[in-house]
Amino acid sequence: MRWTKSAEEAIAKVPFFVRKRVRKKIEAEAEAAAATEVTLDHVHAAKQHFLKKMEEDVQGYRLEHCFGSGGCPNRILDQNDFPQRIEEILKKSDLKSFLESKVNGPLKFHHEFGVSLADCPNACSRPQIADVGIIAAAVPVVGANDCTHCGLCADACQEKAITVAEGMDAPVIDATACVFCGQCVKACPNETLVRGKEGFRIMIGGKLGRRPRLATELKGIFAPSEALQLLERILDFYVSHNQQGERLGEIVERVGVEKIAPLDAASTK
Ligand code: SF4
Ligand code: SF4
Ligand code: SF4
Repeated sequence: MRWTKSAEEAIAKVPFFVRKRVRKKIEAEAEAAAATEVTLDHVHAAKQHFLKKMEEDVQGYRLEHCFGSGGCPNRILDQNDFPQRIEEILKKSDLKSFLESKVNGPLKFHHEFGVSLADCPNACSRPQIADVGIIAAAVPVVGANDCTHCGLCADACQEKAITVAEGMDAPVIDATACVFCGQCVKACPNETLVRGKEGFRIMIGGKLGRRPRLATELKGIFAPSEALQLLERILDFYVSHNQQGERLGEIVERVGVEKIAPLDAASTK
């Protein structure tokens, strides 16, 4: 079908990765209206239709989860109801109504409050660019059984956080390098290394867009109930400091992460 010059100019502004699809849709709508060429009016009508549909689909939040529960061997915790509990908190917050009251103009997907849950530090769900990123963690500690200095734990550690040497009673773990993946515990044949605290690392304020920002990690490993409690506090912080529906990262930059009510010392590493 022929396109007028102004319609061609308008479609050229649509991002290249969806342009072909959008073009086809507009042509189908023009054909349905018995038009012989696509005009700027057809392009504008399609845009309005898309924006309206997007407004209906925006739910105020989005929760992403890696594929850990699908049988990934790296998964650290079997907290199968954890994503559901996160979603309950997000739903209860009624973020869609809140954002509608703050955002000037129609709500779009990029306004939504994003939570990303990863079941291990490989972070396949990209928690570093979510408003709240949650990463499962298990702290390795030395248990009661003797170490044979086999070195399997050090071999298993991708972070090179473990030192094993003859003469040492037990391996030494560099807590600043450890990402709490639990692989050394799995590798130890004697159960010399065992799991200490299990829970989640939490990072906040990540985003892409015009001014990308990697999330700031909060200090501590949070037990599941503590992580959920902290999520509620972060949401309170987000709602009470939000001016125009901006992302959490912008608020953190403006008012400082320390304004989020701290959890008790039991949560810190
Ligand atoms: S983040 Fe870890 S547990 Fe989740 S899918 Fe990736 S590797 Fe598997
Ligand atoms: S938990 Fe992971 S990162 Fe930490 S010492 Fe063990 S293998 Fe290394
Ligand atoms: S802690 Fe376990 S895996 Fe590591 S050297 Fe000792 S016995 Fe081997």
